[in-house]
Amino acid sequence: MVFSNETRKQTIHQLKHTELDLLIVGGGITGAGVAIQAAASGIKTGLIEMQDFAEGTSSRSTKLVHGGIRYLKSFDVGVVADTVKERAVVQGIAPHIPRPFPMLLPIYQESGSTFDMFSVKIAMDLYDRLAGVEGSQYANYTVTKDEVLQREPQLSADNLQGGGVYLDFVNNDARLVIENIKEADELGGLMASHVKAVGMLHNDAGQVVGLHVKDLLDDTEFDIHAKLVINTTGPWADKFNALDDHEKHAPTLRPTKGVHLVVDGSRLPVPQPTYMDTGLNDGRMFFVVPREGKTYFGTTDTDYTGDYEHPRVEQEDVDYLLKVVNKRFPESHMTIDDIEASWAGLRPLINDNGSSDYNGGGANSGKVSDDSFAALIEVVNAYEDDQATRADVERAISKLETAHAEAGLSPSQVSRGSSLDQATDGLITLSGGKITDYRKMAAGALALIRRILVDRFNVDAPAVDSKKLQVSGGHFDPTNVEETMAFYIRIGVDAGLSEKEAQDLANRFGSNTSRVLTYAVDGPAPGLSLKETMSLRYSLNEEMTLTPVDYLLRRTNALLFHAETLAELKQPVVDEMAQTLGWDDSVKAQQLAALNAAIADSQLAYLKTAPAPVHPE
Ligand code: FAD
Repeated sequence: MVFSNETRKQTIHQLKHTELDLLIVGGGITGAGVAIQAAASGIKTGLIEMQDFAEGTSSRSTKLVHGGIRYLKSFDVGVVADTVKERAVVQGIAPHIPRPFPMLLPIYQESGSTFDMFSVKIAMDLYDRLAGVEGSQYANYTVTKDEVLQREPQLSADNLQGGGVYLDFVNNDARLVIENIKEADELGGLMASHVKAVGMLHNDAGQVVGLHVKDLLDDTEFDIHAKLVINTTGPWADKFNALDDHEKHAPTLRPTKGVHLVVDGSRLPVPQPTYMDTGLNDGRMFFVVPREGKTYFGTTDTDYTGDYEHPRVEQEDVDYLLKVVNKRFPESHMTIDDIEASWAGLRPLINDNGSSDYNGGGANSGKVSDDSFAALIEVVNAYEDDQATRADVERAISKLETAHAEAGLSPSQVSRGSSLDQATDGLITLSGGKITDYRKMAAGALALIRRILVDRFNVDAPAVDSKKLQVSGGHFDPTNVEETMAFYIRIGVDAGLSEKEAQDLANRFGSNTSRVLTYAVDGPAPGLSLKETMSLRYSLNEEMTLTPVDYLLRRTNALLFHAETLAELKQPVVDEMAQTLGWDDSVKAQQLAALNAAIADSQLAYLKTAPAPVHPE
């Protein structure tokens, strides 16, 4: 498989000269999920993305595939039931990406607390039941205050009651996108980054028949013709729909900004992802997640109207998150100077969905009523007092599930918090949702697309089972992840890597690891380790890496979690890319400058730089 700058030219040629069945606008997780399923169904599929793949929200999430969090906060039984099922599906189709990592939930007794030790246990038991992990190694348990403090000695002991531990998964958002895109390409889809939709094409009957687009790498403009166009532009969905001069689309989104900050692991040592109330009595909870020797924490949630392509971390975001961290980890004395990297993303929230928190309930999320929940608590209380049996508790729980199942989803919802619509001029919009639900959202859209293709265009695309459609790198038995990884680590070591280096590559590339290792043949590039050379060359040739930032931020996450390696990596990465992509000295200088700017932004140089002292004359 080759998916590179070279193939991009051919792809653009084909996009210009083919009438597609389906043109997808937006190469985040939503568009990537639609692309893989459409291409697998034999639908003639094209996808355009105006930035790098995943450069929008889909590389800027909390990087969790969480099941219990929303429920645990709002007792949103239906959401958990759906999410944990879907999480298992995503783990099955991309087994090298989401990984189980139990979450610690410290419980504080204070005004505005989300849980006490009693309600958290009920919530976690119900969660385990929905996730089907009762009695397994991932079953929940509670820990005492001392045990919580043993795990996280910097945590504030004031009002700490204890904690709960339950199964959650960590994710690599940007890599999940690129692996879907690569597979869609392999299946015959035409995937092009840095191509922006700038206008809509309509036929005489007023139906959308394609897009006028601009190749942002050479500033040329051209038309792409398609029977159907789907808008998967996430937070940009309303902006894209505003290009439609035949139909007025009511705005549907209310994007909010969420920020995460990264510090060295030694500054905030946590052995596992941790989730707790902020302690500021503001109804919010926050995450602290260990990753690759660092710890990141977040997030904020503020309405956003600025530049969608470059949402920035502002001083007030830093102030809020430092306040929260210093409240909960007072011994850390965290300051802005500790921050090694950061990111900000825009949630594509549907206006009427009510939920601005991926971990809390939404107005149309099938929330269990207070009455139902109170009834459950009553039975559990009776059980604790030996006045009710375990069977009574189980019956009460299943009543909650039934109550939810009857509520169902509104027809326009393919997944909670998402919406699928078709305008009268034929334009389809799929927006909202979250990464965890992407496969399901895409499956809903595909059902609509296949129906329209057969009814209106006599194109009969077969249905595929998207639950079994493995992404690139995920072609192995998902029930055997550890053994498969051990195999790829072994062949990495045989190719001359250390155990740790081989492990990094296997975790990043899954079943493509053997392809990656073939790039060892010419030995290491000047200034780069053998591992980095193989990873970079593979990524340039097979993952549409076009800039150093694509590589260091989204194909790997060096820019976020390995800031200390960047000084050494920068120049050799640019040099090696220049070799492959034929850059002259001026392009090299531009690319290095863009990389330096991205690093400075991520490290918050614009906030850390102290104002020049004022010297009175
Ligand atoms: P995007 O990823 O933004 O993709 C849309 C793409 O469209 C962009 O890349 C953009 O460049 C492109 N585009 C726009 N206009 C045009 C045009 N005219 N032409 C061509 N291309 C165009 N979800 C989870 O499951 N787990 C989490 O832990 C989680 N945490 C989150 C934390 C935060 C702070 C945020 C902001 C979100 C979080 N989410 C989480 C939600 C999740 O990240 C988003 O729902 C998801 O990434 C949205 O994907 P998308 O493809 O719809 O949008």
